[in-house]
Amino acid sequence: MVTRFEPFFPPSTMDPRTITSLHRLRLGYLGTTQMTNEAANPCEHCLEMEESQPLHYVLHCPSTARLRLYRHTTYPREVETAASVLGAVPLNVLAEVVASYPPPR
Ligand SMILES: [Zn+2]
Repeated sequence: MVTRFEPFFPPSTMDPRTITSLHRLRLGYLGTTQMTNEAANPCEHCLEMEESQPLHYVLHCPSTARLRLYRHTTYPREVETAASVLGAVPLNVLAEVVASYPPPR
């Protein structure tokens, strides 16, 4: 699903830590929890227990509600919905959200 994203060229003025967070988020759909089948961990922002923290971060976390203010489509698979959300949110808003609430590692 990552291949559905548009090419990503952050502005050179963007904070390198923010760029790192953006890349991590975009590539984060196969997090360590899913790859190793370990128990779910709580979200570091809202303490919700989620199997997929990247999907929680994009689709459900109260701390990232701004990401979901822009028009997007709901698909049967959450990973596709998350891609839609990330495709609709303006880059500057995305950068502000990940700077304030770092995505799961
Ligand atoms: Zn959360």
